Amino acid sequence: MIEEILNKSEKIINKLAEVGLKYSATQEMTKLTCIKDCGKCCYNPEVYARPLELLPLAIDLNKKNKLEDTYERLQSYVHNSEKNEVCFFYHKIDEVRGYCTAYEFRPLLCRSFGAFVRKKANHKKELSVCKLIKIEKQTTFENVLTKMDEIPESFCTDLLANSFYQIDPELFLEKELQINNAALKIFEKVKFYADLSR
Ligand code: SF4
Ligand code: SF4
Repeated sequence: MIEEILNKSEKIINKLAEVGLKYSATQEMTKLTCIKDCGKCCYNPEVYARPLELLPLAIDLNKKNKLEDTYERLQSYVHNSEKNEVCFFYHKIDEVRGYCTAYEFRPLLCRSFGAFVRKKANHKKELSVCKLIKIEKQTTFENVLTKMDEIPESFCTDLLANSFYQIDPELFLEKELQINNAALKIFEKVKFYADLSR
């Protein structure tokens, strides 16, 4: 069973990397990249993920013998409603700056922070950009809007989430949860299987 989970985790890592490349290619091409050291997206209760997306993080922590301890700290963090409004993996430097302590394994939504392109129902491309970047890089943003046709079709990120379905349909169909709750859920599962295999 643990072999099967490791196998799924590898597939998720590859899929997240593939999706992440699309997002970062769009951000580099449009020059609508994040403001240096900005961590506002993470300092926000509205970050959601499917537990499945956090499987590689759980596996990595387990490999490093840190899963049990991280799980316990996360559990008390989640039960502190004031703290639970911020992603557990965010390391705050000050009121504006911070960084992700799980960057390599961050889920799908976190990889889209900044800017991305999707197709609308009428097949027109739509650019989604963070409010802070729109203000800080207003000219660049307006310029990109006039050249949407130049953005390659392959950069559009529609249905990306659905491509995770093939990896584990059952886990995929679990609804998205606030990131801390999603992590708690998958950590519990991995802990269970890790204990069984001892
Ligand atoms: S996982 Fe990392 S990138 Fe995503 S919200 Fe948490 S700290 Fe931010
Ligand atoms: S998307 Fe915007 S708010 Fe989020 S980290 Fe980037 S610049 Fe900051």
